Amino acid sequence: MPAYTKVAAMQFAGGTMKTQDSNLLADVHAQFDRAAAYSDHPQGLLDQVKMCNVVHRMSFPVREDDGSIRVVEAYRAEHSFHRLPTKGGIRFSPEVTEDEVCALAGLMTYKCAIVEAPFGGAKGGICIDARKESEGFLERVTRRYVAELNRKNMIGPAVDVPAPDYGTGEREMAWIVDTYTALNPDQLNPFACVTGKPIALHGISGRTEATGRGVAIGIAEATASLEDMQSVGLTSGLDGKRVIVQGLGKVGFHAARLLEEEGARIVAIAEFDGGIASEEGLNVEEVHRHLLETGSIRGAPGTRDIGKPEVTLELDCDILVPAALENQITADNAPQIKAKIVAEAANGPVDSAGDAILRERGILVIPDLFLNAGGVTVSYFEWLKNIQHVSPERLTSRHQEVATTRVVKALEGATGAHLSDDDLIQAVRGPDEIDLVEAALADTIIDSYHSIHEIWKSRSMPDLRVAAYSLAIDRVAKSYSLMGIFP
Ligand code: NAD
Repeated sequence: MPAYTKVAAMQFAGGTMKTQDSNLLADVHAQFDRAAAYSDHPQGLLDQVKMCNVVHRMSFPVREDDGSIRVVEAYRAEHSFHRLPTKGGIRFSPEVTEDEVCALAGLMTYKCAIVEAPFGGAKGGICIDARKESEGFLERVTRRYVAELNRKNMIGPAVDVPAPDYGTGEREMAWIVDTYTALNPDQLNPFACVTGKPIALHGISGRTEATGRGVAIGIAEATASLEDMQSVGLTSGLDGKRVIVQGLGKVGFHAARLLEEEGARIVAIAEFDGGIASEEGLNVEEVHRHLLETGSIRGAPGTRDIGKPEVTLELDCDILVPAALENQITADNAPQIKAKIVAEAANGPVDSAGDAILRERGILVIPDLFLNAGGVTVSYFEWLKNIQHVSPERLTSRHQEVATTRVVKALEGATGAHLSDDDLIQAVRGPDEIDLVEAALADTIIDSYHSIHEIWKSRSMPDLRVAAYSLAIDRVAKSYSLMGIFP
């Protein structure tokens, strides 16, 4: 395959042009190649599984608040069509490049394969800094981006379905569905054109916290194995584990909150402008509230200021959860990382050189393409809800309640035991949407972990990442070979 060459990506931001080296694509390709070496698939097929199939680069004019015009640079990459639609988030970041979205789209393909979500991978990026723009400007950019995608048939329930990512959330997804609906008035399923929508706009309960919840479940499952924990010098279980989280955004906040709920101690958090710590454990909800109120985690009550965010990563802890951006652990700082486990909540937070150092040092890395797949898992449920036009519990919940009540009453009759009214209500209650989503998410993440763990151990692979890529490559390659290649 043509090797990745480092590019200087041209970016337009606020009228000034800047260049930036990107290596995430090189890293994803390098990790792919490590796993492909264990595969029996022919090289041509492996090449097809590896390469990003389509990337659309666009620049479009957007009106500033003062009436002037700014040209904005944006991308959408569709990595693989072995399953349709393609699926992947949209990020707002001044660092976005074509190679970055191709790399992230590839990770989405592999992620979907691991959790068996029936999508090809995609990713979108718009070169703006959401923190520095007005809401009006962000809305105009988002709507114009959707119009550009629509023009190329790169958005729609059956072709390509975006979701939130770095710098975007429910608000942007609502603008997307509104714009798409306006441009496609005869669509039967317009709400399935994007996931991560507000509940009131046919979103699904539990999507906002899904990625963070999946991260917490994945870490809990990894730490449950006494043998694996002993091999990194830890006891089994989450209880009392000392955790550092980088990035208190959508993923990091919920992961930290849920890890804390499960008994872990969050001893430090890093944000873009600095880090804070507390050996007794930070109160994640309180720190998050402080962040929302003041724009910074620094100065949150009862916390010690660490200064530069990167220093936080090197503090003593059991588990380090990078949940911000890629390339945070590299050859420069990997030797200083004290954690025994690095849990990749973000996409690509450890680069290839950093990964090799962590491996040599016996640090367990739980890889991104498994660990943060909770978001796309619940996006899959949202997409299903939207194309079925019914939420998952609506047709079954009452029936289940009636059926369980009959069983309980029969058992009461047979045994003479009797439940109080309150206990009966609790025992027979049919599921809400959130119950089904959380149960199915947990099931997916736990099953997927054991699938990659089994491959790791039974095939004596060097690490979980190679096992995760191997599982994904095998599933995608099998789809392509069963379909055949269109002449
Ligand atoms: P977000 O924008 O909600 O949060 C990111 C947070 O990281 C922000 O609070 C930001 O201030 C902080 N940050 C930025 N630079 C930092 C630095 N140098 N040090 C410390 N903190 C820093 O984004 P998100 O949706 O939480 O995404 C985070 C990562 O997770 C990204 O890599 C994304 O691709 C990945 N991811 C997100 C989802 C999802 O559902 N949102 C799903 C899978 C993967």
